[in-house]
Order: sequence, then structure tokens, then C-alpha cells
Amino acid sequence: MNNDKEQTIYDFDFSLICEYFSSLERQGPGSEEMTKLALSFIDGLTEESKIVDLGCGTGGQTATLAQNTKASITALDLFPSFIDKLRDRFAKLKLSDRVNSIVGSMDELPFADREFDVIWCEGAIYNIGFKHGLEYWHKFIKSGGYIAVTEASWFTENRPEEINNFWNEAYPEIDTIPNKVQQMQSAGYVPVATFILPEECWIDNFYTLQKEAQEIFLAKYPDNPAATNLIGYQRHEAELYSKYKEYYGYVFYIGKKI
Ligand code: SAH
Repeated sequence: MNNDKEQTIYDFDFSLICEYFSSLERQGPGSEEMTKLALSFIDGLTEESKIVDLGCGTGGQTATLAQNTKASITALDLFPSFIDKLRDRFAKLKLSDRVNSIVGSMDELPFADREFDVIWCEGAIYNIGFKHGLEYWHKFIKSGGYIAVTEASWFTENRPEEINNFWNEAYPEIDTIPNKVQQMQSAGYVPVATFILPEECWIDNFYTLQKEAQEIFLAKYPDNPAATNLIGYQRHEAELYSKYKEYYGYVFYIGKKI
């Protein structure tokens, strides 16, 4: 009985989280320009090439990949409501024939060894951890293929306690850029490029865009503590970012499998 009740509460919170994030254009920091910049480091893509976008969300970056390459694209996310939104987006763009979308988990991929020329993952590898993701996904990439991921990273060796504690709680695998590059090398990739996402990727494209969605969401669930907590956490995260953005951010890491 007790378990059933917990399951119900969990499902409800979970569906609230999905509802909130699926109302957004993107579910993490990024931009079309930065996706294109990362793509510029990847050679030899043709119409025969295959790209997989893991943790695609509602498909912001998937659309940029489809519009800027001739490759066929597979998009995978754990949450069906995000995949539904992605399908709507591609239907509107008249690009549905270029993308195959799948509900699935990035730590149990339904693909063949060496199936892809490129693995793409923006703002999502943290779900299974950077190191584990790079190691596990390696076998799905062809020799000479690429991996391109964004990952939360420290810009400095030391940082104020408040932000250090926040991230060590939220994602203890956050680390400095040289340490992340070393992990990429150890996982079997040549580090091809790294660059820091500019702050507009967080402020304009992620946090500011959430403000209206937050008002709508709170108006819809005025007396729901889970909804209030969810929005409170998002606002706290945005405040911390503006206070401590010199110390951390998202970094694109691009590697080549040899
Ligand atoms: N790439 C998108 C979404 C980033 S948010 C963007 O940048 O806008 C992180 C995404 O990872 C969410 O869409 C979430 O549903 C997805 N996710 C979480 N755990 C996952 C898992 N185990 N397998 C696949 N996707 C997962």
C-alpha cells in the first residue's frame, strides 16, 4: 500500500517536471550558433552519414543538425512527451523524413556496434555521467567518427563555497576543462576541440525564456507544493548562474574516435 502511494506521488511530480520542461523550446543551455560551431569541427559528413542525438529533449539542436547536414538523424530521449514535441517540430519544418525518433535510454542503446558517424549530446550526458557516457558510447561510433557533447565544467581550480556546494550536490562529476579533456582522451577519443558556451546560451536562451513559462505554470498549479518547489529550484539555479558565471558553465567537447 505504502509503495503504491509513493509511486503515485512520484509519478505526479515526474509528470509535472515533464510538463514544465516540454513547454520550453530547449531543456538546457545552448544555441543554434553553438551547435553549428561544433558541427564545423566534424569532417566528411555526407547523405550516407548517420548522426544520433542522445537526450534530444524537444529537439532544438536536432533541428539544427538536420538543417545543416545531409545526414540521416536518429533522436532519442527517455520521455515520450519530449519525443512527441520533437515530432511536431519536425512535421512543421517538413523534415520528418530526415529524423527517426525513439523513446529509449542513453545507457541502454538499441543500436549496433559502429552504427553511427557521430554521437551528439547537448546538456544530457550528465544523466549517466560524462566518463561513463563517453566510454559506453564509444562502441557505437565508426572508426574515424566523432562525438560532440556539452557538459557542465569549472573554469577555475577554486571557487566560492556556495557554488561549489551547489554543484557537488547537483552533479559531483563537474570538473575542470583539462580534466574533462583527459577523460575524453582516456575513453579513446582524440580531443578535437573544446569551447565554452557564451552566457547568452544560459541567460537569453534558457533562463529568460523560462520566465513566462514559470508564470503560466504557477498560475495553473497555484496550491501545488511540488510545482512551487520545481519553479523555486529553477529560479535559484538561474540566480546562482548570474552570481557565479565566471566560475562555471557548459563546455562543448568534440572528440574523434580512432
Ligand atoms: N538536448 C536537449 C535536452 C537537454 S535536457 C537540449 O539541450 O535542449 C536533458 C534531456 O535528457 C531531457 O530531455 C531528458 O528527458 C533526457 N534524459 C534524461 N535521462 C535520460 C536517459 N537515461 N536516456 C535518454 N534521455 C534522458
